[in-house]
Amino acid sequence: MKQIASFCIDHDTLGKGLYTSRIDGDVVTYDLRMVVPNAGIYLDNAGIHTFEHLFATYVRNSAYSDQVVYVGPMGCRTGFYFLVRDSLSPAEVILLTQETMDFIAGFEGPVPGAQRSCECGNYLNHDLAAARAYARDMAAVLRGWTPAMLDYDYDK
Ligand SMILES: [Zn+2]
Repeated sequence: MKQIASFCIDHDTLGKGLYTSRIDGDVVTYDLRMVVPNAGIYLDNAGIHTFEHLFATYVRNSAYSDQVVYVGPMGCRTGFYFLVRDSLSPAEVILLTQETMDFIAGFEGPVPGAQRSCECGNYLNHDLAAARAYARDMAAVLRGWTPAMLDYDYDK
């Protein structure tokens, strides 16, 4: 089998940030990298679960909801994939992601979709404090992020 594109990037030199992972037709996959890969520290499962619910809730209620395809965590627990239509410009994706981090960082109250009867498959496995901390950290990382920086090879 051929190796898929996202496995070909050099994970050992990848820093936290937002990157264009791949483009399939009109769907663009963004890589929201939240911890440095293979550095010994990984996102906690309950924290990413809550982060996922809040991330999806925010972007699907935003002005760009029709262009959002999918939001989901990476199995390696180092970040998220964010899939959108290419009608959303890179600058808009950066702005939307920054706004989402601010939303999660300041979120209070019950986690949306986290009731047992709702769509959640592991409703006890949530950690809002961790999700907020991840979002605060990423808000700082993404401050001043530009479309040029979406390139994995961009020299920071
Ligand atoms: Zn859930």
